[in-house]
Amino acid sequence: MTIAVLAVQGAFIEHEKKLQALGADVFEIRQAKDLERHFDGLVLPGGESTVQGKLLRELGLFEALRDKIRAGLPVMATCAGLILLAEHIADDPTVHFGTLPVTVKRNAYGRQLGSFQCTADVEEIGKQLPLTFIRAPYIEKAEDAVKVLTRVDGNIVAVRYENQLGMSFHPEVTEDNRVHAYFLQMCEQKLS
Ligand code: GLN
Repeated sequence: MTIAVLAVQGAFIEHEKKLQALGADVFEIRQAKDLERHFDGLVLPGGESTVQGKLLRELGLFEALRDKIRAGLPVMATCAGLILLAEHIADDPTVHFGTLPVTVKRNAYGRQLGSFQCTADVEEIGKQLPLTFIRAPYIEKAEDAVKVLTRVDGNIVAVRYENQLGMSFHPEVTEDNRVHAYFLQMCEQKLS
């Protein structure tokens, strides 16, 4: 199982460590030639979505990755990655990949509560997962076809839609491996 991790900006190394610990082969996507390699799944890490969106376009990665996601490549997106996938960003005309039919609100928790942790049950993944939010977005609205996996304080913070798993929080910074294990299962199911 080979997983590509977008590594143009943000928190990609932590994802790589988790996936490797679970037995996956991992490589980084930094430039167009990296896309020549085969991969079974893609991780879009947290960071700064505006910067990532700009770099994806400048580096010539944008269209090829969007087409792969549209064609069914399993993708796990955390935080800024979720913003890249969203069809709509609240109060902002910007659209990046636009493959996930949700509206996300960036920096939704404001400055004061910019970062926080909690635990929640996440459908399909497990009970009492530790969730870490860092200047996180949440999903304001999701189309009916999108499965809501969990909410925190009534707001949607994890969803699954076909080949796409999107989360507001950062599963890669906790000790818990269940989110990454679930994603690897998604990749395996796609293969079989
Ligand atoms: N606030 C960032 C953004 O809007 C996301 C934060 C994160 O990825 N930790 O892109």
